[in-house]
Amino acid sequence: MTETLPSQKLTLETIVALAKRRGFVFPTSAIYGGLANSYDYGPAGVQLLKNIKDLWWNEFITGRTDMVGLDSQILLHPRTWEASGHVTAFNDPLVEDNVSHKRYRADHLIKTWVDKQLAKNPTDPKWLEFSVEDLKIEEMGAFITEHQLLSPDGNPVSAPKAFNLLFETSIGTVTGEKSKVYLRGETAQGIFSNFKQITDSTRVKLPFGVGQIGKSFRNEITTGQFVFRTLEFEQGEIEYFFDPETNDWAKIMAGWKDSMWAFATETLKIKSANLRWRQHTDKERSHYSKDTFDLDYNYPFGWGELWGVAYRTDYDLKQHMEFSGQSLEYVDPVTNRRFIPHVIEPAVGISRLFLMVLCDAYRFDEVKNRVVLELAPKLAPYQLAVFPLVKNKPELTAKAEEIFQKLRKTWRCTWDERGNIGKRYLSQDEVGTPICLTVDYQSLEDGTVTLRDRSTADQVRLPVDQLESHLRSVLS
Ligand code: ATP
Repeated sequence: MTETLPSQKLTLETIVALAKRRGFVFPTSAIYGGLANSYDYGPAGVQLLKNIKDLWWNEFITGRTDMVGLDSQILLHPRTWEASGHVTAFNDPLVEDNVSHKRYRADHLIKTWVDKQLAKNPTDPKWLEFSVEDLKIEEMGAFITEHQLLSPDGNPVSAPKAFNLLFETSIGTVTGEKSKVYLRGETAQGIFSNFKQITDSTRVKLPFGVGQIGKSFRNEITTGQFVFRTLEFEQGEIEYFFDPETNDWAKIMAGWKDSMWAFATETLKIKSANLRWRQHTDKERSHYSKDTFDLDYNYPFGWGELWGVAYRTDYDLKQHMEFSGQSLEYVDPVTNRRFIPHVIEPAVGISRLFLMVLCDAYRFDEVKNRVVLELAPKLAPYQLAVFPLVKNKPELTAKAEEIFQKLRKTWRCTWDERGNIGKRYLSQDEVGTPICLTVDYQSLEDGTVTLRDRSTADQVRLPVDQLESHLRSVLS
């Protein structure tokens, strides 16, 4: 087997083209010229996305006895976002190109500039320790002026301004009267505002967590990062509540870091060399957070945040108590002590998991001159492709159809009878289908079929009655 290309050599353009060609991801509203930072998931993509979400849910919700699930609304009471701080502080620092009027993130311009300095002199101590996350917005302005940073089009830029990422909309219950609401910027706040209803309606006892998967919306202006950064995206967020007096937060944090790492490397089969932990600096961390780590993945455009885990103390529940006037205290069932639980939050973007899975699975096989997606069978959109050797031979098609209908009750199967068999193999390799099953003339005589392995391209013949047990062993 040839080696997987290291992800540094894999370009985002290659992944974007493959994703479009094979029905994983399409640009949204393509017939109207597209919409910035917006993508649709095609037939293969939606299945891969669902498989990732199912694995997340099975591992973190149904697979644990200390977790429950939730599905809260995208539109929440607008006070939620005042309490959480999003209305005043959910900002990105924006600069505007003075000539083209295109907008850019000031922190991204600075980071790109610093990376260029480091490329020229990788050991320059001035930039080695530099972290743009430590700069306040005024300091970014001063940096841009001092180093005369220009926009990507080569023009001077304005001073950075805070730009709120929340999308606003309105609900109108009475004609003419409208009230402002926000599309949620994260799923977490629905968990906090339901805390009391969850403890009242279930038998959960601290420490326990609540997880949900759902859409979030952010008015992102940085373009060109494919599904890594979109306006609309799904998050998988967990709030893990505990008693700060009897539970050691550092241990809980370490446990979640291990679980996140195991999900990426064992469940999704990501190469650990492409993952790293990055601890937030004191200046970068939110004021209420005691410790925050990002699990970064080495995307084709460089290391980027995949999954964050933050110790948020009792900040959110306290804020919601203050803004709602309702008690969100927990009463210890043994001691009757009342207190506000603390929380550790592992939060991931499902589309960032998706992009990571695509990049990590990509392999160019130079020997056979083909692209192979080495997806784990549980992730692959289709686990099996069934073909009659040639089209227009009714006896072959009937036999293949019979096998296809039987196997699709157990496995995610696809059918293909177009063109020659070699082309069908190549297209399944690019979608990541682990096994192709072909019914040929010999099948009609002796009841055997050919199974071709995606990764090795090796073929074996098997009697039809051994298929189920064989597939169970290779596809699980
Ligand atoms: P970034 O710094 O990359 O903008 P963030 O620190 O603002 O991300 P969080 O607020 O911690 O992100 O959100 C939790 C997770 O949600 C992130 O780790 C990421 O996986 C995902 N996420 C955040 N913004 C987006 C987006 N615009 N598109 C896709 N996923 C996103």
